[in-house]
Amino acid sequence: MDLPISKPVIIALDGYSSCGKSTLAKQIARHLHFLFVDSGAMYRAATLYFIENNIDVAKDNEVNNALENIHITFKNIDGENTTFLNGRNVESEIRSLQVSGLVSEVSAISSVRKKMVELQRQMSSENGIVMDGRDIGTVVFPNADIKFFVTADPIVRAQRRYNELLSKNQKADLHEVISNLEHRDKIDTERADSPLRQADDAILLDNTHYDIDEQFSIVMDKIYKAIKGLS
Ligand code: C5P
Repeated sequence: MDLPISKPVIIALDGYSSCGKSTLAKQIARHLHFLFVDSGAMYRAATLYFIENNIDVAKDNEVNNALENIHITFKNIDGENTTFLNGRNVESEIRSLQVSGLVSEVSAISSVRKKMVELQRQMSSENGIVMDGRDIGTVVFPNADIKFFVTADPIVRAQRRYNELLSKNQKADLHEVISNLEHRDKIDTERADSPLRQADDAILLDNTHYDIDEQFSIVMDKIYKAIKGLS
């Protein structure tokens, strides 16, 4: 679907953990032929590097050396956006509970954020970008053309995440998933650097009672309306 616009459009999707932001962002990007960027995957890949190399997050020199050796790229494999860390496909590993358990601590470090934000701002595409994360509309692209802030009931979010892990044959325990979501939401909203918050001009979307198709059609309607205002 091509849009009547003359410059690349930036769509920012922020929100709490496991609200389905990436699923929604992928749907939008596929529909509009935009580039999809999962910024959370970048923080997860950095975290995997920290775990594998026993980096002490409390030691600045270890963190800074690690950051110099972390190269994150995305490739489309069989139609799926796939994350690579130093040339290695880590798409599955970065979704593990081990990585989920440490990613918010790593993401709260300013030098880590600085590097990821730089990489995110370098990503460009002829038509436009849909990027999902925690600080896209507030920090990475404060001038994004359209911003959404996605939320849902925490129990619904945990159940969805649990089902997703099971469907990917990953080890999962519902209580562990609930406590991981609570843990990440707390750190993500309370950290000093770029805390998760709704941008003043973001559209709030509570998807507790929507299925994926309902949510997609509501969001596309808002995107078309916003884009009419841009052209
Ligand atoms: O989106 P996802 O749940 O995969 O993100 C994993 C973690 O990465 C989040 O809990 C958060 O700590 C961090 N993150 C972030 N800023 C972003 C995207 C993700 O701090 N833009």
